[in-house]
Amino acid sequence: MSDALTPREAIREMAPYSPPSAGRDGKLRLDFNENTIGCSPKVIECVQKYLTADHLTIYPEYQDARRDLGAFFGVTPEEFTITNGTDEAIQILINTFVEDDDQVLVLKPTYAMYRFYAEVAGASVREIKYAADLSFPMTGLLDALRPETRAILIANPNNPTGSAIGLDQIELILETAPDAAVLIDEAYFEFYGVTALRWVNDYKNLFVSRTFSKVYGMAAMRCGCLFTCAENAEWLRKAQSPYSVNMLAAIAARAAVQDREYIGKYVGEVLAARELAYVGFERLGIRYFPSQANFVLFYAGDRAVPLRDALRERGVLVRDRSYEIPGCVRVTIGTRAQIERFLVELESLWSR
Ligand code: PMP
Repeated sequence: MSDALTPREAIREMAPYSPPSAGRDGKLRLDFNENTIGCSPKVIECVQKYLTADHLTIYPEYQDARRDLGAFFGVTPEEFTITNGTDEAIQILINTFVEDDDQVLVLKPTYAMYRFYAEVAGASVREIKYAADLSFPMTGLLDALRPETRAILIANPNNPTGSAIGLDQIELILETAPDAAVLIDEAYFEFYGVTALRWVNDYKNLFVSRTFSKVYGMAAMRCGCLFTCAENAEWLRKAQSPYSVNMLAAIAARAAVQDREYIGKYVGEVLAARELAYVGFERLGIRYFPSQANFVLFYAGDRAVPLRDALRERGVLVRDRSYEIPGCVRVTIGTRAQIERFLVELESLWSR
């Protein structure tokens, strides 16, 4: 038998990324920053109507989704592309603008997929570390800029820190790095309320992504949008598979944006529950980082991993982040009732 093939060097050199991805069913899932009560019932209704042999037999067509999503986000259909989640947005941005060995700047810690896709593409990734108080390392980022910097990938608010930068800081980055594609990943926008989306025609190096995986409760669908000026968007679509978003996802996204009330109510609930979590942490004397998103990072010291495991045994999932921020655990904020349950379990374990 012959030997297995040798992959490209970029793949051989990459550290594997394997998020826990099994056994989450039936538990209180406060580990992945998803919507903890699910999508609008109108989305389900719409997807069910579409589930016919006739519809499933046809390759996806996106005109209606582009019209409706464009109208919702306040851009023209030419100024964005619908993507298979944020992940595909990151991938096509890199495939379109980054050559082998070009430099890509990412923050540390942040969402793992920026580094992942940059490494797959063979780019040289430079990580800029957040300070210990998790303040944004603006000076470090600007100092790291090089003529060969082709992309800067920023989550705003950031995961897992929950911290965010303002428009003045985004503007400074856009102006200092005119030749780099600057991605502002607004996966958690709805909880923060500050967006760079209005600037896609003012800054030709600006890319903004949104997702249906978080507040919209459709992570399984894999749908997002990547916005930029029309000229860039045309290049992005050229580099994208013509059918990468399945038709059910496109249909579901159209239905989702029509139910603004559902989303508004859920955001209100999460913001109230986040306050409840803060109060709970303070009562227990647990240090936490105030967040602009639907998750909060708290400090459990050397109990981080055992605490995560003990909560899991009680049916509550949280995410250990101590491998990147020593002692820290991240909890997704859901409804007040869910956070109350989390706090009850946390309190009984913490005081042992
Ligand atoms: N961006 C950020 C900052 C995230 O934290 C996550 C999920 N953890 C994503 C994007 C994932 O988005 P999607 O499901 O749209 O690929």
